[in-house]
Amino acid sequence: MASPAKKRKLNGDSKSSSAPSRNLDYFFGKQKKGIPARPANSAAKSVENGADMSALADEELARKLQAKWDEEDAGGRMVAKKSGSPEGKESPTLFVLADTAVTETKADKNGNNMNGFRLELPEKEQKIASPSVKTKSTLSLQAAGSTEDAISFNIPFDESPLTFEPAKYVQDLQGHWAAEGGDASYALLTRCFVLVNSTQSRIKIVDTLVNLLRVIIEGDQSSLLPTVWLATNAISPPYISLELGLGGSAISKALKNVCGLDKKSLKALYDKVGDAGDVAFEAKKRQSFTLRKPKPLTIKSVYQSLVKIASTQGTGSGEIKQRIVDRLLQDARGAEESRYIVRTLCQHLRIGAVKTTMLIALSRAFLLSKPPGADFALKSQIELAKLKKEALAEVWARPEEVVKACFAKRPNYNDLIPVLLEIGVCDELLVRCGLALHIPLRPMLGSITRDLSEMLTKLQDRDFSCEYKYDGQRAQVHCDDQGKVSIFSRHLELMTDKYPDLVALIPKIRGDGVGSFIMEGEVVAVDPESGELKTFQTLSNRARKDVAIGSVKVNVCMFAFDLMYLNSESLLDRPFRERRELLRSLFTEVPNQFTWVKSIDATSQDSEAVLEFFKSATDIKCEGIMVKILDNLPNAKLKDEPNDVADIKESTPKPPSKPTKGKKGVSEKEAPSEKKSRRKALLATYEPDKRLDSWLKVKKDYSTTFDTLDLIPIAGWHGQGRKSKWWSPILLAVRNEETGSLEAVCKCISGFTDSFYKANKEFYEEGGEHVLDGKPSYVDYEGGHPDVWFEPQEVWEMAFADLTLSPTYTAAIGLVSDERGLSMRFPRFLKKREDKGIDEASTSEFLAGLYRKQEAKAPAGPAKDVGVDDAEEDED
Ligand code: ATP
Repeated sequence: MASPAKKRKLNGDSKSSSAPSRNLDYFFGKQKKGIPARPANSAAKSVENGADMSALADEELARKLQAKWDEEDAGGRMVAKKSGSPEGKESPTLFVLADTAVTETKADKNGNNMNGFRLELPEKEQKIASPSVKTKSTLSLQAAGSTEDAISFNIPFDESPLTFEPAKYVQDLQGHWAAEGGDASYALLTRCFVLVNSTQSRIKIVDTLVNLLRVIIEGDQSSLLPTVWLATNAISPPYISLELGLGGSAISKALKNVCGLDKKSLKALYDKVGDAGDVAFEAKKRQSFTLRKPKPLTIKSVYQSLVKIASTQGTGSGEIKQRIVDRLLQDARGAEESRYIVRTLCQHLRIGAVKTTMLIALSRAFLLSKPPGADFALKSQIELAKLKKEALAEVWARPEEVVKACFAKRPNYNDLIPVLLEIGVCDELLVRCGLALHIPLRPMLGSITRDLSEMLTKLQDRDFSCEYKYDGQRAQVHCDDQGKVSIFSRHLELMTDKYPDLVALIPKIRGDGVGSFIMEGEVVAVDPESGELKTFQTLSNRARKDVAIGSVKVNVCMFAFDLMYLNSESLLDRPFRERRELLRSLFTEVPNQFTWVKSIDATSQDSEAVLEFFKSATDIKCEGIMVKILDNLPNAKLKDEPNDVADIKESTPKPPSKPTKGKKGVSEKEAPSEKKSRRKALLATYEPDKRLDSWLKVKKDYSTTFDTLDLIPIAGWHGQGRKSKWWSPILLAVRNEETGSLEAVCKCISGFTDSFYKANKEFYEEGGEHVLDGKPSYVDYEGGHPDVWFEPQEVWEMAFADLTLSPTYTAAIGLVSDERGLSMRFPRFLKKREDKGIDEASTSEFLAGLYRKQEAKAPAGPAKDVGVDDAEEDED
């Protein structure tokens, strides 16, 4: 705990406060109304005698104590700060006696302690003052409420931005701010935090932020940037390393120092409320008095304090940081300010104003408000208020996109806010806040797919590239014309120091004619001789900072997969095929150090090749594959193409699994609108910070189920191309125990070796003893005509990706759906079950059970009824 002397020194800083002090009567006026007046002389006596201080009138006690401290200060001790009165007269530091009960009666409806001023009583004085003070340690000195708090704490920030009028409040606020230096107060921000914290509604949160931002834009534009940083619980972008680096102990210490809590009561509070901010709130409500007039916190001063904490380094920095933290808590007016100061210090604000919310709020705020002097156009609130919900959403949409796009390309509020203040939200913003070297853009992300089959369905009719999905660390490499290199991580941290070997490699890979560029790839640990891939675990053993090139123990290779910027030009709007072509033609491979991701180009017709590629990826320890759309569609098709399997599903009314006679499968109400099923076609452009279906991830961990089925091969078709001599695909069936029939469940082309195909053809030779003349009556199959019907006699163990409802296959019909059977997606031959006879093959009942299990596991959503037999489509 800091010594009283230290605290006094700190208090001395309040000299700089430009706030005029108010005289005692002003502050005690209201207080007196609530507390019965006590005889002055008996009070004085009580202090002298060390009797119960509650017998004293507040004002009198204040005067008494102040006189005493002044005397002591004159005798060589540091003098407690006295503020100058507005009239230029010296007035003593102001305080009143308040026990917890009084403090709580001063709390506003939100539980905020409205006390404005406190005087911290050093331990020694507490003893002198009264034994009761010593035991309670809560001689609290407070102003009779601050009018500034009253204004801030009554602003209806949660009102609709279409009716909220910042002008109503700005003038009064500015008046109060002027008295304290002119900057927007932290009380204003706290008011917003309290409201945001009190709702779960995203709409309300956005509205509240919009209104706060508007008041700041119109009332004190210079506080907008710190407001945005504080509200997003950050002080700098991720690529500028500015860490608060405060341990929990600094905050506990501050609570002890400032709120007069001992270890035990602090722990009791923590146990009771759990969150450090809430502890501060409670502690502040039970505030001991402090011997200094706090300097009201402003948004700027809080932000600057945080930056100071983060940038203070070296010997004695711990103490300096502690003093700043103490000071912040000391100056926090009331319990709510303390709560949010502490939450900010813990970097856990819990107000849900994450990046996206803030960007949306900014885009709307700048449509409705501008700072004095700016001349960009605004929307009329009155006109907007007349719009229907959908029309209003359209008005918000474009500016939102613009602001988000800027922030995705240049994720730094220090760049965005000044330009917004100057020109508002307009297309020029995209130019002024665009892609820049040595500033990382937010990476494009891939959507998860359940398996290859889902991926193929999603990308039907499109050309795509399948790439190995390496298990390493994503790296965004920036290089300027002078050859300066910066490397950023997936989360935008600067990691140039971590990869000096990669930095040294850049001149070698940069081909002729390449000046500046931004490239992306996966850095993977490899064996430097063989190039064999090592695990992510190996890579994570590499030191993070200040790696000396000579001491690199974990060798890496960068597998490049994209090029976003070249020779001062952004390539983001170019299709992937073009970007990839530039990447591969302009840069040079260096064996086992720099190369391209391994890839194949394919369409949904190439399922077999894709499956093979997927297998080869997992065989060499890759996580799976990334699948990327190569080209934009021609313009005519761009707007109107259903591109997502979900959309296709939604637009196809589907019968319930057990339809009731006389009822339609899907009611009018349930049937999704035509509009919903249409979406913009997938683009092949690089979309920073977006997770679209134009990049799909297929990982091995979710590519197949662990269940297998024991199926009976029942028919075959002549193969094509290389496989023309064999039966391929082969039709397989489950058995229906009840009827004794064999129900076709899938066609399979995967998992067979050439020698297997050969042996199979010989066994089921045309005209031979193991083939039948035609389709046997006990086989249920409604699909196309096989070239040969096998005599059922074998059992094969089959793997598959998942089970799906099918109009073609009849397996388990009536068990899951009355109209559809079940089929397997991506069936794969594992082995012959020599040990099983056909009467031990899997039954339709077992198959239905597996399907139900799969559906129970799947996230909520429409049944996987794709309307086409995609197993068949894929395989053929
Ligand atoms: P995300 O990064 O999509 O938020 P995540 O952190 O769970 O999700 P993954 O699901 O493993 O990551 O997949 C994406 C990551 O795969 C990329 O961020 C990148 O680091 C890595 N990756 C490996 N190979 C490629 C590739 N060929 N193309 C794109 N990314 C790749």
